Amino acid sequence: MGNTFKNDFTRDTGDVVIVGGGLAGLFCALKLAPRPVTVISAAPLGEGASTAWAQGGIAAAVAEGDSAEAHAADTIAVGGGLVDEAVALGLAREAGARIRDLLHYGVPFDRDLEGKLAVGREAAHSARRIVHVRGDMAGKAIIAALIGAVRGTPSIRVIEGYVAEALLTGDGAVTGLRLREVANTAAKPIMVASRAVVLATGGIGHLYAVTTNPAEASGLGLAIAARAGAVIADPEFVQFHPTAIMVGRDPAPLATEALRGEGATLINDRGERFMPARHPLAELAPRDVVARGVFAEIAAGHGAFLDATAALGAHFAEKFPTVHASCVAAGIDPARQPIPVAPAAHYHMGGIAVDARGRTSLKGMWAGGEVSCTGAHGANRLASNSLLEAVVYAARIAEDIAGQTIAAPSRSPMALVTPRNCARPPLTEANLRAMMTSHVGVIRDGGGLAEAVRSFAAIERDTGNIALRNMATAALLVAASAWSRRESRGAQYRIDHPAERPALAHRTLTTLAAARDIAASLSDRIPARPAQPLNA
Ligand SMILES: Cc1cc2nc3c(=O)[nH]c(=O)nc-3n(C[C@H](O)[C@H](O)[C@H](O)COP(=O)(O)OP(=O)(O)OC[C@H]3O[C@@H](n4cnc5c(N)ncnc54)[C@H](O)[C@@H]3O)c2cc1C
Repeated sequence: MGNTFKNDFTRDTGDVVIVGGGLAGLFCALKLAPRPVTVISAAPLGEGASTAWAQGGIAAAVAEGDSAEAHAADTIAVGGGLVDEAVALGLAREAGARIRDLLHYGVPFDRDLEGKLAVGREAAHSARRIVHVRGDMAGKAIIAALIGAVRGTPSIRVIEGYVAEALLTGDGAVTGLRLREVANTAAKPIMVASRAVVLATGGIGHLYAVTTNPAEASGLGLAIAARAGAVIADPEFVQFHPTAIMVGRDPAPLATEALRGEGATLINDRGERFMPARHPLAELAPRDVVARGVFAEIAAGHGAFLDATAALGAHFAEKFPTVHASCVAAGIDPARQPIPVAPAAHYHMGGIAVDARGRTSLKGMWAGGEVSCTGAHGANRLASNSLLEAVVYAARIAEDIAGQTIAAPSRSPMALVTPRNCARPPLTEANLRAMMTSHVGVIRDGGGLAEAVRSFAAIERDTGNIALRNMATAALLVAASAWSRRESRGAQYRIDHPAERPALAHRTLTTLAAARDIAASLSDRIPARPAQPLNA
């Protein structure tokens, strides 16, 4: 296996093309075997995927005394009134079966002395139900096991180092993809035909200047789907992790929530705990509440630190090796010193709208994992539900595709004209990311959001660089919906509309055309433009 693409780029992939080499993409490919599948990944497998960085684990009600109903109730409780309850229950019910699949693929989940799956506790879960691997190594272990399984499955072809930059459409359906070699702006794009496209490209964290996500999580999957006309759901809801470790790294390393589950506290530079005054659950309050608490403490000039010295002390390195290594690399000994932290863009609740089978609004296209929006998370995600969602929907997508005979595309994608790609302007990209953090971040207001919408619409319209244009498209979708939702709910906090409004207790379903209309309405300097051709 490996990258045979360069010698074979005119070959029709023909059948199923999965974009993304994280949990959703690889699991879907494995579930489709022995059906031939091509997996395209921007980064080499194991790199550039949030999956590999997951520290907590997977939420699954597998312990005695726990139930799918209790798991679903916790999911609904944190979702700001927007969780689709049937979806949440479905996820919780399928968790056990998918954990068994992962065990079958070789994921070495931790077990207790009786050999049962060991479960940890995380914020806003009413029971211990996080299945994990060697403390905080879940993501690394999951991705390593899946890569091993994929490499050993002859029906799966893997193409690494190519980015999907546009969807090809025809006859009212998605017929393939336009790919380009990563970091080679001048490279000729490559067209691949496909009967079924599965987008599993992950999140949008890298649209923000402060993020825990890899650089590949820059919203490209969301953007290419939106540019092809797909319906997008809840894009305004972005979860900020309250405790990214602030040691000048991009992306910022994460201090997992499980640390707070183990008793680590949040303190300011005077050594005072600030969360008990903000929420009865203090450090274990829902993420948005904790993120705003940390944000406010930093904004007030008091700084914010995660203190695990009493809760873990000398056991820190053994229990949380990944966090320990990140701290030590920055000269901090977390067994003895509080860790400087700040909120960082972490997870996108919104995404490409999908139904219970993972089907998008575009014929021939499915979406799974973080790029999709199933309705499971509503306005705020419960910790460790995202890996669960990725694995449950990847299996459903595979089942749906396997049950279909999909006609071959009727026209050759090689015949399409391809647009020019200019060099990537680093300053514009840095400005976009800075504006997402300052204007579309933890605390938002109408004026700042309007400015962001106008700015992203202008970049989207004017830039000649396709990757940046796609980033601007994704950023525009987030900012325009955040501007439209004149209330605070879940992860969206509007300082100019600080209360929840019952009339807005519904999900957002939108399109890129609608976001561009909002941009046009916000600026007479940006006139309304005719819709872009679908393959632009
Ligand atoms: C630091 C961190 C810790 C986390 N901890 C947890 C946790 O403990 N529990 C939990 O449930 N969730 C956790 N999450 C969230 C969870 O990891 C992600 O939501 C989940 O892994 C997403 O999986 P995915 O397969 O959708 O995307 P990813 O794993 O991000 O994979 C996306 C893939 O798509 C590729 N790609 C992206 N764009 C393109 C393109 N245009 N063309 C080609 N390839 C492309 C990437 O290279 C990558 O291979 C964490 C996230 C982070 C960042």
